[in-house]
Amino acid sequence: MSTVQESRIHVMTPWLGADEVAAVTAVIESGWVAQGPKVAEFERAFARAMHTREAVAVSNCTTALHLALIVAGVGSGDDVVVPSFSFIATANAPTYVGARPVFADVDALTGNVTAETVEAALTPATRAVIIVDQGGVPVDLDAVRAVCDPRGIVVIEDAACGAGSTYKGRPVGAGAELTAWSFHPRKILTTGEGGMLTTNHSGWAARARTLREHAMSVSAAERHSSLVSPPEEYAEIGFNFRMTDLQAAVGIVQLSKLPEVVGRRRVNAARYRQEIAGIRGLRLVDDPAWGTSNFQSLWVEVGEDYPLDREQLLLALAEAGISARRGIMAAHRHAPYRDAGTDATLPVTARLTDRTLILPLFHTMTTAEQDRVIAVLREPTG
Ligand SMILES: *Cc1c(COP(=O)(O)O)cnc(C)c1O
Repeated sequence: MSTVQESRIHVMTPWLGADEVAAVTAVIESGWVAQGPKVAEFERAFARAMHTREAVAVSNCTTALHLALIVAGVGSGDDVVVPSFSFIATANAPTYVGARPVFADVDALTGNVTAETVEAALTPATRAVIIVDQGGVPVDLDAVRAVCDPRGIVVIEDAACGAGSTYKGRPVGAGAELTAWSFHPRKILTTGEGGMLTTNHSGWAARARTLREHAMSVSAAERHSSLVSPPEEYAEIGFNFRMTDLQAAVGIVQLSKLPEVVGRRRVNAARYRQEIAGIRGLRLVDDPAWGTSNFQSLWVEVGEDYPLDREQLLLALAEAGISARRGIMAAHRHAPYRDAGTDATLPVTARLTDRTLILPLFHTMTTAEQDRVIAVLREPTG
């Protein structure tokens, strides 16, 4: 039966509405649109929600990772262990500070690095490790810290996809020394573009706050709120990694919706799981023993015993008006990092990159929409 008449099913739709419009309108009417009171309010709310002492809002997760490495003292000559199985920003961040990314392989069940794969990638020059909650699946932070803490290696969590996921009963990222978050629309909580750096280390947070704003001693917000401000000084070379109050106002509303959006995603993910369980050759990503995922990317591995390969299944879904996506990329297959790893040294990464695809999943997804996806998975050859 042809389904071309039916409307397209997107892989993801953000939850934006009248509350966000009202929040942005209020900021515009206030006359203060750049980093100011709304950014400060978003930071306080985010720190509370993620169980960390400090939250520093920035322009995106890539700049949050960049600042995390700087405040942790990582620089030229240092090695930083990262998964190749991640969006390329994870590997680029060490490169920005003159360090070398060293790739660790991942576990097939979670798509995340483990204590074992991290330990295997350590070198005498390793100063930091960036672990990722890939696709929202919580990484086993404590196991990685047990390897890194005794060696004085800083563990940074890339929780770009992780808002609303939990690790041992707390929000992911709460137990890392530094955690970076993304508010890109492809993630769960969005501000259009945006990011956050969270930490319990006040000295690091203070330095990140200065560095995001050209390392000036007096912030723009302070300068504009006083009639005669003290002359500002620049103690080092900083950046413009600021978030705007327009974005922060959206973020405050989005944060309040996070539990509900994640709850609805998990209900839809559970329904997929039930239906896919009986299909030979497909394996759906699941919660690990130590936490719960927001299923930011609900991926399925297409096995040898499935009638189609991953590319063919993507096409079959597309023909039915369903927009799925190839799974997570492998950085070592791209020009800047070809010398840093091979499929032979990163076999699980290679397998997951080649064999996984991300299913459509969003909070408003209807049973009928899910049934259309499941029908193609069941009978991919029509
Ligand atoms: C999306 C993503 C990033 C980059 O986030 P931006 O906010 O777009 O900079 C970094 N790491 C991971 C794992 C991501 O998925």
